[in-house]
Amino acid sequence: MGLSARQQDLLRRIPGVDHLLERARAERGLHGIPRTVLVNSARRVVEALRRSILDNGDRFSENRLSDAALLDAVADRVDREMAFNLKRVVNATGVVIHTNLGRSLLPRTAIDNVAALSGRYSNLEFDLATGRRGSRYSAVEDILCEVSGAEAGMVVNNNAGAVLLALETLARGRKVIVSRGELVEIGGSFRIPDVMARSGGILTEVGATNRTHLRDYEGAVDADTALLLKVHKSNYSVVGFTAEVSLTDLVALGKQHGVRVMEDLGSGMFIDFSKYGLAREPTVQDSVATGADVVTFSGDKLLGGPQAGLIVGKKDVLDAIKKNPITRALRIDKMTLAALESTLRLYRDPEEAVATIPTLRALTMAYEELKQRAGRLSEDLAGLGDDRLTTVLLDLPSRVGGGSLPLQDLPSRCVGVEIAGISANAVESAMRAHEPPVIGRIEDDRFIMDPRTVGEDETPLIRDAFRRLLERA
Ligand SMILES: *Cc1c(COP(=O)(O)O)cnc(C)c1O
Repeated sequence: MGLSARQQDLLRRIPGVDHLLERARAERGLHGIPRTVLVNSARRVVEALRRSILDNGDRFSENRLSDAALLDAVADRVDREMAFNLKRVVNATGVVIHTNLGRSLLPRTAIDNVAALSGRYSNLEFDLATGRRGSRYSAVEDILCEVSGAEAGMVVNNNAGAVLLALETLARGRKVIVSRGELVEIGGSFRIPDVMARSGGILTEVGATNRTHLRDYEGAVDADTALLLKVHKSNYSVVGFTAEVSLTDLVALGKQHGVRVMEDLGSGMFIDFSKYGLAREPTVQDSVATGADVVTFSGDKLLGGPQAGLIVGKKDVLDAIKKNPITRALRIDKMTLAALESTLRLYRDPEEAVATIPTLRALTMAYEELKQRAGRLSEDLAGLGDDRLTTVLLDLPSRVGGGSLPLQDLPSRCVGVEIAGISANAVESAMRAHEPPVIGRIEDDRFIMDPRTVGEDETPLIRDAFRRLLERA
Protein backbone atom coordinates (compact mmCIF):
# COMPACT_ATOMS: atom_id res chain seq x y z
CA MET A 1 0.00 0.00 0.00
CA GLY A 2 1.44 3.38 -0.96
CA LEU A 3 1.91 6.26 1.45
CA SER A 4 -0.31 9.31 1.30
CA ALA A 5 1.24 12.70 0.61
CA ARG A 6 0.54 13.65 4.24
CA GLN A 7 2.34 10.57 5.52
CA GLN A 8 5.34 11.28 3.31
CA ASP A 9 5.43 14.86 4.54
CA LEU A 10 5.17 13.78 8.20
CA LEU A 11 7.94 11.21 7.81
CA ARG A 12 10.24 13.85 6.32
CA ARG A 13 9.67 16.04 9.35
CA ILE A 14 10.94 13.47 11.88
CA PRO A 15 14.37 14.72 12.97
CA GLY A 16 17.46 12.51 12.79
CA VAL A 17 18.53 10.63 15.89
CA ASP A 18 21.79 12.55 16.34
CA HIS A 19 20.14 15.90 15.91
CA LEU A 20 17.36 15.05 18.39
CA LEU A 21 19.91 13.73 20.83
CA GLU A 22 22.08 16.85 20.79
CA ARG A 23 19.10 19.15 21.25
CA ALA A 24 17.63 17.07 24.06
CA ARG A 25 20.97 17.05 25.82
CA ALA A 26 21.36 20.81 25.50
CA GLU A 27 17.79 21.83 26.28
CA ARG A 28 16.57 19.19 28.72
CA GLY A 29 19.66 19.10 30.93
CA LEU A 30 20.31 15.40 30.46
CA HIS A 31 23.75 15.55 32.07
CA GLY A 32 25.38 12.51 33.52
CA ILE A 33 23.18 10.17 31.50
CA PRO A 34 25.20 7.40 29.81
CA ARG A 35 25.48 7.99 26.07
CA THR A 36 24.03 4.58 25.23
CA VAL A 37 20.86 5.48 27.13
CA LEU A 38 20.55 8.80 25.27
CA VAL A 39 21.07 7.17 21.89
CA ASN A 40 18.61 4.38 22.61
CA SER A 41 16.01 6.82 23.90
CA ALA A 42 16.24 9.12 20.89
CA ARG A 43 16.18 6.12 18.55
CA ARG A 44 13.07 4.71 20.23
CA VAL A 45 11.26 8.04 20.03
CA VAL A 46 12.08 8.33 16.32
CA GLU A 47 11.04 4.70 15.76
CA ALA A 48 7.74 5.19 17.59
CA LEU A 49 6.89 8.28 15.55
CA ARG A 50 7.65 6.49 12.30
CA ARG A 51 5.48 3.52 13.33
CA SER A 52 2.60 5.79 14.30
CA ILE A 53 2.71 7.68 11.03
CA LEU A 54 2.83 4.46 9.00
CA ASP A 55 0.11 2.72 11.01
CA ASN A 56 -2.40 5.54 11.38
CA GLY A 57 -1.11 8.37 9.26
CA ASP A 58 -4.45 10.13 8.91
CA ARG A 59 -5.08 10.34 12.64
CA PHE A 60 -1.48 11.20 13.57
CA SER A 61 -1.39 14.52 15.42
CA GLU A 62 1.20 16.95 14.03
CA ASN A 63 1.67 18.32 17.56
CA ARG A 64 3.81 15.30 18.27
CA LEU A 65 6.42 16.68 15.89
CA SER A 66 6.67 20.06 17.62
CA ASP A 67 10.05 20.82 19.20
CA ALA A 68 8.67 20.74 22.72
CA ALA A 69 6.84 17.45 22.20
CA LEU A 70 9.89 15.78 20.66
CA LEU A 71 12.20 16.88 23.45
CA ASP A 72 9.64 15.87 26.12
CA ALA A 73 9.31 12.47 24.51
CA VAL A 74 13.08 11.92 24.65
CA ALA A 75 13.31 13.17 28.25
CA ASP A 76 10.41 10.88 29.31
CA ARG A 77 12.03 7.95 27.62
CA VAL A 78 15.35 8.69 29.33
CA ASP A 79 13.56 8.90 32.70
CA ARG A 80 12.01 5.50 32.09
CA GLU A 81 15.32 3.96 31.02
CA MET A 82 17.06 5.36 34.09
CA ALA A 83 14.37 4.36 36.61
CA PHE A 84 15.05 1.17 38.52
CA ASN A 85 12.86 -1.80 37.72
CA LEU A 86 12.70 -2.74 41.39
CA LYS A 87 11.53 0.37 43.20
CA ARG A 88 9.80 1.53 46.34
CA VAL A 89 6.02 1.81 46.25
CA VAL A 90 3.50 3.27 48.67
CA ASN A 91 1.41 0.40 50.06
CA ALA A 92 -2.05 1.83 50.71
CA THR A 93 -3.74 -1.57 50.41
CA GLY A 94 -3.96 -2.23 54.15
CA VAL A 95 -2.44 -5.69 53.61
CA VAL A 96 0.41 -5.65 56.12
CA ILE A 97 2.46 -8.67 55.00
CA HIS A 98 1.93 -8.09 51.28
CA THR A 99 3.96 -10.73 49.48
CA ASN A 100 3.68 -8.94 46.11
CA LEU A 101 4.88 -5.69 47.67
CA GLY A 102 7.86 -7.13 49.51
CA ARG A 103 6.31 -8.59 52.69
CA SER A 104 7.96 -7.11 55.78
CA LEU A 105 9.63 -3.71 56.17
CA LEU A 106 12.89 -4.00 58.05
CA PRO A 107 13.30 -2.28 61.40
CA ARG A 108 15.62 0.74 61.42
CA THR A 109 18.40 -1.05 63.30
CA ALA A 110 18.34 -3.85 60.72
CA ILE A 111 18.58 -1.41 57.81
CA ASP A 112 21.50 0.36 59.49
CA ASN A 113 23.25 -2.93 60.15
CA VAL A 114 22.86 -4.03 56.51
CA ALA A 115 24.24 -0.69 55.32
CA ALA A 116 27.17 -0.86 57.75
CA LEU A 117 28.15 -4.42 56.87
CA SER A 118 27.50 -4.69 53.15
CA GLY A 119 30.15 -2.17 52.10
CA ARG A 120 32.81 -3.67 54.36
CA TYR A 121 34.54 -6.98 54.94
CA SER A 122 33.10 -8.94 57.84
CA ASN A 123 33.70 -12.11 59.85
CA LEU A 124 30.98 -13.84 57.83
CA GLU A 125 32.76 -17.20 57.86
CA PHE A 126 35.79 -16.34 59.95
CA ASP A 127 36.20 -17.19 63.62
CA LEU A 128 37.89 -14.17 65.17
CA ALA A 129 38.79 -16.11 68.33
CA THR A 130 40.79 -18.83 66.54
CA GLY A 131 41.67 -17.10 63.30
CA ARG A 132 40.22 -20.06 61.41
CA ARG A 133 37.29 -20.62 59.15
CA GLY A 134 33.98 -20.14 61.01
CA SER A 135 30.34 -20.93 60.38
CA ARG A 136 28.12 -18.52 58.50
CA TYR A 137 25.25 -19.42 60.80
CA SER A 138 26.97 -18.72 64.09
CA ALA A 139 26.03 -15.04 63.76
CA VAL A 140 22.39 -15.81 64.37
CA GLU A 141 22.37 -19.19 66.08
CA ASP A 142 22.91 -17.80 69.61
CA ILE A 143 20.16 -15.23 69.42
CA LEU A 144 17.82 -17.64 67.65
CA CYS A 145 18.27 -20.14 70.48
CA GLU A 146 17.96 -17.41 73.09
CA VAL A 147 14.60 -16.13 71.90
CA SER A 148 13.14 -19.50 70.85
CA GLY A 149 14.45 -21.65 73.71
CA ALA A 150 15.80 -24.21 71.20
CA GLU A 151 19.06 -26.17 71.54
CA ALA A 152 20.22 -25.31 68.05
CA GLY A 153 19.23 -23.33 65.00
CA MET A 154 20.21 -22.30 61.50
CA VAL A 155 18.92 -20.23 58.63
CA VAL A 156 18.34 -20.75 54.92
CA ASN A 157 16.94 -18.69 52.06
CA ASN A 158 13.24 -18.99 52.92
CA ASN A 159 10.82 -21.26 54.75
CA ALA A 160 10.07 -23.25 51.60
CA GLY A 161 13.79 -24.06 51.50
CA ALA A 162 13.80 -24.84 55.22
CA VAL A 163 10.96 -27.36 54.82
CA LEU A 164 12.60 -28.97 51.78
CA LEU A 165 15.95 -29.22 53.53
CA ALA A 166 14.54 -30.61 56.79
CA LEU A 167 12.47 -33.22 54.94
CA GLU A 168 15.37 -34.22 52.71
CA THR A 169 17.66 -34.61 55.70
CA LEU A 170 15.26 -36.53 57.91
CA ALA A 171 13.03 -38.49 55.58
CA ARG A 172 14.48 -39.12 52.14
CA GLY A 173 13.15 -42.46 50.89
CA ARG A 174 11.05 -42.94 54.03
CA LYS A 175 7.51 -42.27 55.20
CA VAL A 176 6.29 -38.90 56.46
CA ILE A 177 2.86 -38.87 58.10
CA VAL A 178 0.74 -35.74 57.60
CA SER A 179 -2.92 -34.98 58.34
CA ARG A 180 -5.15 -34.54 55.25
CA GLY A 181 -6.33 -31.28 56.78
CA GLU A 182 -2.81 -29.85 56.59
CA LEU A 183 -1.77 -30.48 52.98
CA VAL A 184 -1.63 -26.75 52.32
CA GLU A 185 -0.86 -24.75 49.25
CA ILE A 186 0.82 -21.42 49.93
CA GLY A 187 0.69 -18.78 47.19
CA GLY A 188 3.35 -19.08 44.50
CA SER A 189 2.93 -22.84 44.03
CA PHE A 190 4.37 -24.09 47.30
CA ARG A 191 2.37 -27.25 48.06
CA ILE A 192 3.27 -29.63 50.83
CA PRO A 193 2.75 -32.77 48.68
CA ASP A 194 4.96 -31.34 45.90
CA VAL A 195 7.73 -30.25 48.24
CA MET A 196 7.54 -33.64 49.91
CA ALA A 197 7.96 -35.37 46.55
CA ARG A 198 11.01 -33.24 45.71
CA SER A 199 12.56 -33.96 49.09
CA GLY A 200 12.29 -37.70 48.48
CA GLY A 201 10.03 -38.11 51.52
CA ILE A 202 7.10 -40.48 50.99
CA LEU A 203 3.88 -38.72 51.91
CA THR A 204 1.44 -40.74 53.97
CA GLU A 205 -1.86 -38.92 54.43
CA VAL A 206 -3.96 -39.70 57.45
CA GLY A 207 -7.37 -38.61 58.72
CA ALA A 208 -10.05 -36.71 56.87
CA THR A 209 -10.04 -33.12 55.64
CA ASN A 210 -11.90 -31.87 58.70
CA ARG A 211 -10.95 -34.40 61.36
CA THR A 212 -7.74 -36.21 62.19
CA HIS A 213 -7.24 -38.18 65.42
CA LEU A 214 -4.20 -39.47 67.24
CA ARG A 215 -5.27 -43.02 66.38
CA ASP A 216 -4.97 -42.11 62.66
CA TYR A 217 -1.29 -41.28 63.11
CA GLU A 218 -0.85 -44.32 65.38
CA GLY A 219 -2.32 -46.64 62.77
CA ALA A 220 0.07 -45.35 60.10
CA VAL A 221 3.36 -45.46 62.03
CA ASP A 222 5.56 -48.40 61.08
CA ALA A 223 9.24 -49.32 60.93
CA ASP A 224 9.65 -47.33 57.73
CA THR A 225 8.29 -44.08 59.20
CA ALA A 226 10.86 -41.30 59.51
CA LEU A 227 8.74 -38.35 60.54
CA LEU A 228 5.44 -37.05 61.89
CA LEU A 229 4.88 -33.67 60.25
CA LYS A 230 2.51 -30.96 61.43
CA VAL A 231 1.87 -28.06 59.06
CA HIS A 232 0.36 -24.77 60.14
CA LYS A 233 -2.78 -24.15 58.08
CA SER A 234 -1.63 -20.55 57.57
CA ASN A 235 -3.97 -19.18 54.94
CA TYR A 236 -7.20 -21.07 55.63
CA SER A 237 -9.20 -22.44 58.49
CA VAL A 238 -11.33 -25.52 58.93
CA VAL A 239 -14.42 -24.68 60.98
CA GLY A 240 -17.41 -26.70 62.17
CA PHE A 241 -17.03 -30.41 63.00
CA THR A 242 -13.25 -30.54 63.27
CA ALA A 243 -10.49 -32.24 65.19
CA GLU A 244 -6.75 -32.03 64.94
CA VAL A 245 -3.96 -33.54 66.98
CA SER A 246 -1.83 -31.17 69.04
CA LEU A 247 1.91 -30.99 68.55
CA THR A 248 2.28 -32.13 72.17
CA ASP A 249 0.40 -35.36 71.42
CA LEU A 250 2.42 -35.93 68.26
CA VAL A 251 5.65 -35.49 70.20
CA ALA A 252 4.48 -38.08 72.75
CA LEU A 253 3.56 -40.48 69.96
CA GLY A 254 6.89 -39.88 68.23
CA LYS A 255 8.79 -40.68 71.45
CA GLN A 256 6.83 -43.89 71.90
CA HIS A 257 7.79 -45.11 68.42
CA GLY A 258 11.22 -43.53 68.06
CA VAL A 259 10.00 -41.30 65.21
CA ARG A 260 11.03 -37.67 64.75
CA VAL A 261 8.45 -34.86 64.86
CA MET A 262 8.60 -31.72 62.77
CA GLU A 263 6.38 -28.65 62.60
CA ASP A 264 6.22 -26.22 59.68
CA LEU A 265 4.92 -23.18 61.53
CA GLY A 266 4.66 -21.03 58.41
CA SER A 267 4.62 -17.52 59.80
CA GLY A 268 6.20 -18.16 63.14
CA MET A 269 6.25 -15.49 65.81
CA PHE A 270 7.90 -14.92 69.13
CA ILE A 271 5.21 -12.75 70.66
CA ASP A 272 1.84 -13.68 72.08
CA PHE A 273 -0.37 -11.36 70.04
CA SER A 274 -3.39 -11.92 72.24
CA LYS A 275 -1.94 -9.26 74.57
CA TYR A 276 -2.49 -6.81 71.74
CA GLY A 277 -6.03 -7.81 70.93
CA LEU A 278 -5.16 -10.23 68.13
CA ALA A 279 -5.92 -13.94 67.97
CA ARG A 280 -3.89 -16.26 70.18
CA GLU A 281 -1.52 -18.24 67.99
CA PRO A 282 1.11 -20.69 69.16
CA THR A 283 4.52 -19.02 69.27
CA VAL A 284 7.82 -20.52 68.18
CA GLN A 285 8.70 -20.90 71.88
CA ASP A 286 5.48 -22.91 72.41
CA SER A 287 6.38 -25.29 69.59
CA VAL A 288 9.96 -25.69 70.79
CA ALA A 289 8.77 -26.31 74.36
CA THR A 290 6.68 -29.29 73.25
CA GLY A 291 9.95 -31.07 72.50
CA ALA A 292 9.46 -31.21 68.71
CA ASP A 293 12.66 -32.21 66.94
CA VAL A 294 12.55 -29.46 64.35
CA VAL A 295 10.45 -26.34 63.76
CA THR A 296 10.64 -24.17 60.65
CA PHE A 297 9.22 -20.70 59.94
CA SER A 298 9.65 -17.62 57.74
CA GLY A 299 11.80 -14.59 58.50
CA ASP A 300 9.61 -12.10 56.68
CA LYS A 301 6.08 -12.96 57.71
CA LEU A 302 4.94 -12.21 61.28
CA LEU A 303 8.55 -12.10 62.42
CA GLY A 304 8.96 -8.86 60.46
CA GLY A 305 12.55 -9.44 59.31
CA PRO A 306 14.29 -10.24 56.01
CA GLN A 307 13.33 -13.12 53.73
CA ALA A 308 14.73 -16.22 55.40
CA GLY A 309 13.79 -19.72 56.50
CA LEU A 310 14.54 -20.33 60.16
CA ILE A 311 15.11 -23.81 61.49
CA VAL A 312 15.29 -24.54 65.22
CA GLY A 313 15.25 -27.73 67.24
CA LYS A 314 17.32 -30.56 68.66
CA LYS A 315 21.06 -30.32 68.31
CA ASP A 316 21.58 -33.71 66.62
CA VAL A 317 18.90 -32.92 64.04
CA LEU A 318 20.32 -29.47 63.36
CA ASP A 319 23.83 -30.95 63.05
CA ALA A 320 22.55 -33.34 60.38
CA ILE A 321 20.76 -30.50 58.57
CA LYS A 322 23.87 -28.31 58.63
CA LYS A 323 25.89 -31.13 57.04
CA ASN A 324 23.40 -31.71 54.21
CA PRO A 325 25.02 -30.53 50.94
CA ILE A 326 21.69 -28.96 49.89
CA THR A 327 22.32 -26.37 52.62
CA ARG A 328 24.94 -24.81 50.35
CA ALA A 329 22.34 -24.28 47.64
CA LEU A 330 19.98 -22.54 50.04
CA ARG A 331 22.50 -20.41 51.86
CA ILE A 332 21.73 -16.84 52.76
CA ASP A 333 23.71 -13.72 52.03
CA LYS A 334 25.52 -11.55 54.56
CA MET A 335 22.95 -8.79 54.09
CA THR A 336 20.21 -11.16 55.18
CA LEU A 337 22.27 -12.32 58.15
CA ALA A 338 22.93 -8.73 59.19
CA ALA A 339 19.23 -7.86 58.98
CA LEU A 340 18.16 -11.04 60.72
CA GLU A 341 20.56 -10.73 63.64
CA SER A 342 19.37 -7.16 64.28
CA THR A 343 15.70 -8.12 64.02
CA LEU A 344 16.03 -11.14 66.30
CA ARG A 345 17.81 -9.05 68.93
CA LEU A 346 14.80 -6.77 69.16
CA TYR A 347 12.79 -9.72 70.49
CA ARG A 348 14.82 -9.71 73.71
CA ASP A 349 12.35 -7.05 74.79
CA PRO A 350 8.89 -7.87 73.40
CA GLU A 351 7.54 -4.36 73.99
CA GLU A 352 10.43 -2.86 72.09
CA ALA A 353 9.86 -5.42 69.33
CA VAL A 354 6.25 -4.34 68.93
CA ALA A 355 7.24 -0.68 68.90
CA THR A 356 10.17 -0.92 66.48
CA ILE A 357 9.42 -3.78 64.06
CA PRO A 358 7.22 -2.19 61.38
CA THR A 359 5.17 -5.35 60.74
CA LEU A 360 4.27 -5.67 64.42
CA ARG A 361 3.67 -1.95 64.78
CA ALA A 362 1.26 -1.99 61.82
CA LEU A 363 -0.59 -5.06 63.09
CA THR A 364 -1.07 -3.62 66.57
CA MET A 365 -1.91 -0.04 65.51
CA ALA A 366 -4.92 1.21 67.45
CA TYR A 367 -8.12 2.21 65.69
CA GLU A 368 -7.83 5.69 67.23
CA GLU A 369 -4.46 6.22 65.57
CA LEU A 370 -5.76 4.91 62.25
CA LYS A 371 -8.71 7.28 62.52
CA GLN A 372 -6.40 10.24 63.04
CA ARG A 373 -4.15 9.22 60.17
CA ALA A 374 -7.11 8.76 57.84
CA GLY A 375 -8.43 12.17 58.88
CA ARG A 376 -5.08 13.83 58.15
CA LEU A 377 -4.75 12.14 54.76
CA SER A 378 -8.26 13.19 53.82
CA GLU A 379 -7.58 16.82 54.87
CA ASP A 380 -4.33 16.79 52.93
CA LEU A 381 -6.20 15.81 49.79
CA ALA A 382 -8.91 18.40 50.44
CA GLY A 383 -6.02 20.89 50.68
CA LEU A 384 -5.41 20.41 46.96
CA GLY A 385 -8.46 22.64 46.57
CA ASP A 386 -9.91 20.85 43.56
CA ASP A 387 -13.64 20.26 43.89
CA ARG A 388 -13.59 17.39 41.39
CA LEU A 389 -11.94 15.35 44.17
CA THR A 390 -14.06 14.21 47.11
CA THR A 391 -13.08 11.94 49.98
CA VAL A 392 -15.05 9.84 52.44
CA LEU A 393 -13.85 8.12 55.60
CA LEU A 394 -14.92 4.50 55.85
CA ASP A 395 -14.65 1.72 58.43
CA LEU A 396 -13.10 -1.12 56.45
CA PRO A 397 -10.87 -3.95 57.69
CA SER A 398 -7.16 -4.29 56.97
CA ARG A 399 -5.67 -7.71 56.38
CA VAL A 400 -2.63 -9.40 57.91
CA GLY A 401 -1.61 -11.03 54.60
CA GLY A 402 1.30 -13.37 53.95
CA GLY A 403 -0.96 -16.35 54.55
CA SER A 404 -1.06 -15.44 58.24
CA LEU A 405 -4.07 -15.15 60.57
CA PRO A 406 -6.61 -15.38 57.71
CA LEU A 407 -9.59 -14.87 60.01
CA GLN A 408 -8.10 -12.03 62.00
CA ASP A 409 -10.29 -8.97 61.94
CA LEU A 410 -8.22 -5.77 61.85
CA PRO A 411 -10.67 -2.86 62.06
CA SER A 412 -9.36 0.18 60.25
CA ARG A 413 -10.40 3.62 59.05
CA CYS A 414 -9.87 4.13 55.32
CA VAL A 415 -9.96 7.05 52.92
CA GLY A 416 -12.14 6.59 49.83
CA VAL A 417 -11.48 8.94 46.91
CA GLU A 418 -13.73 9.80 44.00
CA ILE A 419 -12.80 12.15 41.19
CA ALA A 420 -15.58 13.56 39.04
CA GLY A 421 -15.17 12.48 35.43
CA ILE A 422 -12.54 9.80 36.19
CA SER A 423 -13.47 6.19 36.86
CA ALA A 424 -12.15 4.40 39.93
CA ASN A 425 -10.23 2.08 37.59
CA ALA A 426 -8.58 5.04 35.88
CA VAL A 427 -7.66 6.56 39.27
CA GLU A 428 -6.20 3.25 40.40
CA SER A 429 -4.04 2.88 37.29
CA ALA A 430 -2.89 6.52 37.38
CA MET A 431 -1.82 6.10 41.01
CA ARG A 432 -0.03 2.91 40.05
CA ALA A 433 1.78 4.73 37.21
CA HIS A 434 2.98 7.54 39.48
CA GLU A 435 6.59 7.75 40.73
CA PRO A 436 6.60 6.32 43.31
CA PRO A 437 3.56 4.17 42.57
CA VAL A 438 0.72 4.38 45.08
CA ILE A 439 -1.04 1.01 45.37
CA GLY A 440 -4.59 1.04 46.70
CA ARG A 441 -7.73 -0.95 46.06
CA ILE A 442 -11.18 -0.36 44.59
CA GLU A 443 -14.41 -0.87 46.49
CA ASP A 444 -17.86 0.42 45.51
CA ASP A 445 -16.39 2.45 42.65
CA ARG A 446 -14.02 4.30 44.93
CA PHE A 447 -10.24 4.26 45.20
CA ILE A 448 -9.57 3.13 48.78
CA MET A 449 -6.45 3.80 50.84
CA ASP A 450 -5.83 2.21 54.25
CA PRO A 451 -3.48 4.27 56.46
CA ARG A 452 -2.34 1.16 58.38
CA THR A 453 0.32 0.35 55.77
CA VAL A 454 1.15 3.94 54.75
CA GLY A 455 4.20 5.54 56.39
CA GLU A 456 3.53 8.87 58.10
CA ASP A 457 6.08 10.49 55.80
CA GLU A 458 4.30 9.12 52.74
CA THR A 459 1.18 11.30 52.73
CA PRO A 460 2.96 14.10 50.79
CA LEU A 461 3.74 11.53 48.08
CA ILE A 462 0.08 10.51 47.89
CA ARG A 463 -0.93 14.15 47.71
CA ASP A 464 1.56 14.75 44.87
CA ALA A 465 0.22 11.74 43.00
CA PHE A 466 -3.32 13.14 43.16
CA ARG A 467 -2.12 16.61 42.18
CA ARG A 468 -0.45 15.20 39.07
CA LEU A 469 -3.53 13.18 38.25
CA LEU A 470 -5.80 16.24 38.52
CA GLU A 471 -3.41 18.38 36.46
CA ARG A 472 -3.33 15.85 33.67
CA ALA A 473 -7.06 15.12 33.62
C1 LIG B 1 4.51 -19.18 54.04
C2 LIG B 1 4.63 -20.61 54.34
C3 LIG B 1 5.66 -21.37 53.76
C4 LIG B 1 6.66 -20.75 52.81
O1 LIG B 1 7.46 -19.81 53.47
P1 LIG B 1 8.37 -18.82 52.61
O2 LIG B 1 9.21 -18.11 53.64
O3 LIG B 1 7.44 -17.92 51.88
O4 LIG B 1 9.19 -19.64 51.70
C5 LIG B 1 5.73 -22.69 54.07
N1 LIG B 1 4.83 -23.27 54.90
C6 LIG B 1 3.84 -22.58 55.47
C7 LIG B 1 2.87 -23.30 56.36
C8 LIG B 1 3.69 -21.22 55.21
O5 LIG B 1 2.71 -20.52 55.77
